[in-house]
Formats: sequence, C-alpha cells, structure tokens
Amino acid sequence: MTKEKERAAGYPVKELPYAHGALAPHISEETMRYHHDLHYAGYVARVNELTAGTPFAGRPLGELVTGADGVLLNQAAQAWNHEFYFEALAPDPSREPSGALAEAVVRDFGSADALRGAMTRAAVALFGSGWVWLAADAGGGLVIRSESNAGNPMREGLVPLLCIDVWEHAYYIDHRNRRADAVAAFWHLVDWERVGRRYAAAR
Ligand code: MN
Repeated sequence: MTKEKERAAGYPVKELPYAHGALAPHISEETMRYHHDLHYAGYVARVNELTAGTPFAGRPLGELVTGADGVLLNQAAQAWNHEFYFEALAPDPSREPSGALAEAVVRDFGSADALRGAMTRAAVALFGSGWVWLAADAGGGLVIRSESNAGNPMREGLVPLLCIDVWEHAYYIDHRNRRADAVAAFWHLVDWERVGRRYAAAR
C-alpha cells in the first residue's frame, strides 16, 4: 500500500498469534472472544475515529501513547497495551527467563519466582482498573510499575517488557471477583522467551 492508503486504512486490529481457545484452561475461549474481539478491537476503532483527519493519523501507535493526551491517549494506550499483552502469551510458552534477562531478574529481584510474586502482589493491590508492568530503565535495570486505567511506563521513559491486565474484563468471565486466581493463571501463559527478546531489544 502507499503511505496515503495506509493512513486512510487506519490502525488495524491485530490478529491473535494463537487461536482464541488455545490458552484454555488458563484463559477461556469466551474470555478471549470478549477481550480481543470486543474490548481491544473497540479501542482500535475509537483510535481510528479520534485520529481521522488529525496530524496523529498514520503515526505509530506508540507515538500516540507518548505524545497524545486526554481521550486519545486513553484509547491509544489501551490499544497498544492490549497488543503487547496478547503477544506475550502463548499456549506452550518458555516458562522461565533465560540469558541476559534471567541474569537481570536474579540481580534485581533475587529469582524469577520473587519477580512473579512481586508483580502478583502489585496486581492484587492495584485499586480499580489498570496494568502492572515489568519494564527496563535506561541502564537495563528491571522495575515494576502499577498504572491506573490506560497507564503505560513509556510515558516516563521506561521500556515495557511485560504487562498484566488488571481490568475486570480480563478475568471476570473465568474468575469472577478472584483477581489473584486470574494472575496465577496468567503466569502459566507468559512466554519468557518473548519477554527476553523485548529486553534484548531494549538494550
Ligand atoms: Mn483488557
């Protein structure tokens, strides 16, 4: 496509890199149909409405996350965050960090279990809707950030590595009010090889 046609076509709804039911029993097909096809796709549709005819049209979604504000920031960050979230999950994931990421996890948290525990506690403690992030700072250090609503650590210059969706729409079908159970299920699906590639790209 030409650049003009790409702009006119707007932001695409990215397909899941696995079948909707492939993450069961940890995340059900019904949850993925709502979460990807309705919630995530709805954010993308709103970004397309809000950017049409503006200087933001056709700019990478990540530039909207760092450069927009107000309702466009909220919608663009939700679109970006969901793509990042879905891409880190896999039906048959690499279950532990390796290489440089594994070394950084041990250095900054003591162990992968300790990191998972810290992120789990942050997710359970987060009030209302939001995201819990693992991110890298400029020196390659690993940090955890709890963000309300559509928050994203790129806004403070960090490089996102992994996120837990703490919106009720992410877990209410499967776990009702039991957020801790949803986070426990999430850890069965995180592809640490993908997280490691993100960490390598950040450095
Ligand atoms: Mn969500």
